[in-house]
Amino acid sequence: MSGDDPELAVGADAFTQQGAGLEVAVVGAGAVGATAAYDLAREGANVTLYDRGTVASGSTGRAAGICYDAFADGLDAELAGDAIERFRALSGDDTFPFVECPYVWLAREGDDERADAVREQVARMQDNGVVALEMEGDALADRFPALRTDDVAVAGIAGAAGYADPGAYAACLAAAATGAGATLETETPVEIRTDPTRVIDSEGEDREVDAVLVAAGAHTKELLAGAGVTLAMKPYRVQALVASGDLAGPMCYDASGDFYLRPHAGGLLAGDGTENREADPDAYDREADDGFADDLVERVAHRVPAIAADASLERAWAGLCTATPDRDPLVGELRDGLFVATGFQGHGFMRAPAIGQRIATEILGGEGIDAFDPTRFDGDEAFEVVSGMALDPN
Ligand SMILES: Cc1cc2nc3c(=O)[nH]c(=O)nc-3n(C[C@H](O)[C@H](O)[C@H](O)COP(=O)(O)OP(=O)(O)OC[C@H]3O[C@@H](n4cnc5c(N)ncnc54)[C@H](O)[C@@H]3O)c2cc1C
Repeated sequence: MSGDDPELAVGADAFTQQGAGLEVAVVGAGAVGATAAYDLAREGANVTLYDRGTVASGSTGRAAGICYDAFADGLDAELAGDAIERFRALSGDDTFPFVECPYVWLAREGDDERADAVREQVARMQDNGVVALEMEGDALADRFPALRTDDVAVAGIAGAAGYADPGAYAACLAAAATGAGATLETETPVEIRTDPTRVIDSEGEDREVDAVLVAAGAHTKELLAGAGVTLAMKPYRVQALVASGDLAGPMCYDASGDFYLRPHAGGLLAGDGTENREADPDAYDREADDGFADDLVERVAHRVPAIAADASLERAWAGLCTATPDRDPLVGELRDGLFVATGFQGHGFMRAPAIGQRIATEILGGEGIDAFDPTRFDGDEAFEVVSGMALDPN
């Protein structure tokens, strides 16, 4: 880690630190919890960051690491833009590389509904100040010769985009948190209690704190249920793979084909296979389904002809994302001293640097994000799981 990186510096003056003396437990050392722990600790809070496994042993360690600010909604775009800025500031030889890479999302000829959605999204992004372009097939072919474009009706291109290793990011932020004074407790599953706000660890130690942040990924709902809080969130299973091949860029989401891909040191990383039903975070199948890899490699080869359909598979896996009724996250205070950050619909890594910072600010007494207020739902709402990348209108 870079000792002279200003982004990783510890707050300079203990007397001006907003969190001085505040006891905070952060549950979950994924990208979100590790970021929040760092931002809390450098404001002087007395932070303990717990994980039932190791750092990034949840969804963060299974994520594709694609990042962009290409959101049509103004708040989403602002948060994602802030996150990209922070990825860039934190990235380095001795932290983690953030690789700049354009992001292309596209709809195919004949898929008018998604083509209209792409056009509308680009227009809304431009209205919000996001640097995004609309391109048709020929222009796309000139700009990105690696992509097959003869079947493309329209594409959006976002320049503020790139990818990073999510596990390396979380490890970097967890280390920075401990450098700023936080205590990291791995292999320590905890339970939460309220009135007063407490954390009970696996040794049975019952500790009262000023605030708890539950950033426990797919386990957040069951963890909060133990504290008597019902959350409108459903974990759902997705799959990804790494295959051999040569792809320098761009990153691409083929909305009509329903898959995404990005360059990877081993060739390329691709994913799809969203299961639109609730998964059990303790019992879901962590292996990819039979046939998943063959089918996806074939579809990827259609879009990137240099990837032969018989490209060799390096690995394939499954992991969990978290859905909410309105596809917006649940970030903020649930009850006095009890905070949550979950429900990222497959976009939690790319927003973690900003979400972690915002929830830390709220815990320290600042403003929360109104649109993501977790109390906007009762918790018992019935809703369908919808893939976070799907272009169908909300
Ligand atoms: C295949 C795949 C591809 C993805 N691709 C992308 C992508 O390209 N871009 C993107 O932005 N997002 C992507 N995502 C989504 C992304 O992984 C998540 O949104 C993000 O990692 C969520 O981070 P988190 O910190 O909230 O949760 P997690 O990383 O799940 O961390 C939660 C942590 O809490 C711990 N925990 C749980 N229960 C307890 C307990 N009782 N006590 C203590 N600790 C506990 C877990 O061990 C875990 O480490 C992808 C996800 C998958 C599965």
